[in-house]
Amino acid sequence: MRRVVDFINEYDPGPFPEDFDREVIQLASNENPYPPAENVIAAIKNNIFKINRYPSPYYRELKKAISEYTGFGVENIAVSSGASDIIRLVTDILLDPLDKVFVPMPSYTMYVMYSMLREASLETRVYEGYRIDGCYERGKLAFLCSPNNPTGNVVERKVIEEFLQNFEYVVVDEAYCEFSGTSCADLLEHYDNLIVLRSFSKFFGLAGMRVGYAIADEKVVRAIEKIRNPFSLSMLGQIAAVEALKSVEYYRRVAEMILSERERMRRELEKRFYVYESSANFLLVKHDVPDISERLMEEGVLVRDVTGLEGLDGPHFRVTVGRKEENDRFLEVVSGL
Ligand code: PMP
Repeated sequence: MRRVVDFINEYDPGPFPEDFDREVIQLASNENPYPPAENVIAAIKNNIFKINRYPSPYYRELKKAISEYTGFGVENIAVSSGASDIIRLVTDILLDPLDKVFVPMPSYTMYVMYSMLREASLETRVYEGYRIDGCYERGKLAFLCSPNNPTGNVVERKVIEEFLQNFEYVVVDEAYCEFSGTSCADLLEHYDNLIVLRSFSKFFGLAGMRVGYAIADEKVVRAIEKIRNPFSLSMLGQIAAVEALKSVEYYRRVAEMILSERERMRRELEKRFYVYESSANFLLVKHDVPDISERLMEEGVLVRDVTGLEGLDGPHFRVTVGRKEENDRFLEVVSGL
């Protein structure tokens, strides 16, 4: 059985944690480069004096706001400190040792690591176009990511349905769905084994606040809520997310700028590299420049080196779409390498 310690040592995602605090152009983590809406900042300031108190462990206000935003009932919504925490909670409530888990690669590595921690029987084969044939039939859990990190592609709806019919549970991670304008959450009406994950870290620009949620069947939601740390989501995180949901129009305008910048970056990068189709706020680039991410970092630009990630053939990096001036600097440095 492969263990997390082996996985981590086989795949090193590049120069990231040590440089977190350096003053750099941060294009490595798919964050939103723009500031929060003004009402978000005002609400945080107005409530800062309350931080001596725990938040309400039910997070009713946030769930109500998410319910209005998504159209699902509060009983179908679980919240916690980021989508990544919810991935962990989902593996905790669903997986027993040797349960069959399938992760089409390349994808977000936390699915792999958290499944390994549950000693699941993990299959991570590369599935071209995410075709399901040959993968675990009637497996316990499959993780799909749409748009997928790091490739940026949206998983087709009919493929998701095929997975839903073949697995006991299917997680569809929609952390970037507001950028693609696609979601499969409405399939919950027909499939109670679907668990949709969402994040406030990307479109809503609250990565530092740590807020994520799941939309799922009531039974799954109840189990997640039961085992999570009662106060896992901070009081200011809840307040910021509720405010952000009042300013969706602002974030839509921001997303439009990001998407138009993405296409500009694509056009420039394609002059020299292979760039994957992306429906998200990042681009995956296949390249042939030795040590490109280290050399970019020397110039103060941080991208994510994903070379060696299962399913990617040859050197690749993933770059987040930043503000125009950040993207200009990135493109300028790349063109000189
Ligand atoms: N899912 C995917 C696909 C991601 O790329 C990320 C963040 N990189 C997460 C989940 C985690 O998001 P959060 O900040 O909400 O924990």
